[in-house]
Amino acid sequence: MNSSFVIAVGSLVVGSVVLGLKFVAYGLTGSIALYSDALESVVNVATALAALIAVRLAAHPPDANHPYGHHKAEYFSAVLEGVMIVVAAVLILRESYFGLLSPKPLDAPLPGLVVNGLAGVINAAWCWVLLHQGRRLRSPALVADGRHLMSDVVSSGGVIVGLSLAAVTGWAILDPVLAGLVALNILWSGWRVIRDSVGGLMDEAVPATALERIREVISSHGGGALEAHDLRSRRAGRMTFIEFHLVVPGEMSVSDAHDICDRIEQALKTEVEDAVITIHVEPEGKAKHSGIVVV
Ligand code: ZN
Ligand code: ZN
Repeated sequence: MNSSFVIAVGSLVVGSVVLGLKFVAYGLTGSIALYSDALESVVNVATALAALIAVRLAAHPPDANHPYGHHKAEYFSAVLEGVMIVVAAVLILRESYFGLLSPKPLDAPLPGLVVNGLAGVINAAWCWVLLHQGRRLRSPALVADGRHLMSDVVSSGGVIVGLSLAAVTGWAILDPVLAGLVALNILWSGWRVIRDSVGGLMDEAVPATALERIREVISSHGGGALEAHDLRSRRAGRMTFIEFHLVVPGEMSVSDAHDICDRIEQALKTEVEDAVITIHVEPEGKAKHSGIVVV
């Protein structure tokens, strides 16, 4: 059992407990804002479940009918997750619209807010674990999960403060207004999830800064070769696929050209984690004089 699996299971358990507490808080108060807070937790449970499926499925080694591996499995779960997030936001917006038309005072504000606050504390603790482990394992995905949870903790805190104000002042209208704000926050995170996974499904290139690093590595480790061109990159889950043409002097032996390729591959693999590299070797007649110049 690896640590990303343990963390995915932990997120699922914590998400479910927090979800239960938040629905109890909603049941106690009848607050639309607490309802929206609870639906936000449904999204977190769905995310954790999707991450778990992705970790299990994407880890399957390549086989005869999926020779490039199964890494894109996680994009499917992410798209599904994005759709769920949008549905949750629409449900909340509908409720807060009715709430605006006829604002109702909260039923049992104090017990509800205490239960919701407890859920917030559990979330904050797990958020700390995610950020801490993410830095220790150098996993940008875990750090991103931690940051996402952090924004949930902040918005839950905002809801609690707003509802306390509503309970003290009797401004019932605050409840649907807060719910609407939470819904907009949820829509925003749903949009980002969908955007990222569609980018992966469409074979988006690696970000410009990473591409620049790849060019530098090829240029500084390709001694003996003349140039590299037609560099292409794409990502699938945690894997990065890199391919390019390497131009060498026509009279160079196959074995010497292969040594250069191995050197570049080694250097690229230390720069880019989980890189899969394919190099096509060409004689100098194929030079384009426009690609990466080997120094
Ligand atoms: Zn070429
Ligand atoms: Zn080889």
